[in-house]
Amino acid sequence: MPLITEDMKQRLLNKTAEPESEPELEQVPALDDMTERELLAKSKEYAAETIEEYDMPISMGDFELKISNRMSRSHGNCRKRGNDITINLSSKAYQNHGWENTQHVIRHELIHAVQAVVHDEMSHGRTFKKWSGKMDVDIRADDPAGDAKYYVVCPNCLRSWPRHRMCKLVKEADNRTCQCGQSGLEVRDEPPE
Ligand SMILES: [Zn+2]
Ligand SMILES: [Zn+2]
Repeated sequence: MPLITEDMKQRLLNKTAEPESEPELEQVPALDDMTERELLAKSKEYAAETIEEYDMPISMGDFELKISNRMSRSHGNCRKRGNDITINLSSKAYQNHGWENTQHVIRHELIHAVQAVVHDEMSHGRTFKKWSGKMDVDIRADDPAGDAKYYVVCPNCLRSWPRHRMCKLVKEADNRTCQCGQSGLEVRDEPPE
């Protein structure tokens, strides 16, 4: 009797043929092994502590904090719709980079929340830098992969096209028209937010 039956062999083959589905999701660092619910609770706790520590002019009631399973590239973001401000934290980034990184992202997004509440803007400009230095926050904390050299940006709708080289789009940006109808795009060295 053969050690591996034809049936077993087929199953093994099938198994090998399966596409690798997001292996990173399985590699949860042992020390940072929080469930999504724990991560959310811990993140809220950390956000509240940070607001207090740096005396930020916002409160936990000013925004909603959420854990997102859908963000693949960015580690987090802060969005404003009407008067609703939402901070999204990527669960995938937490799983791949750990709690300390998530804390960094929380500090970063809290600065955007302050901007949204106090300055009605969200950029990495002057009002961001006012906080980022003393809070040890990097401009790219929430989007480390976004290291493109140029960002072709529509000044009207803020769609952006990151480019790593001085390509045709970058050279001809001011002659290009965006889907929103705006003609004349800008070249910036930072993504808009
Ligand atoms: Zn940012
Ligand atoms: Zn546009």
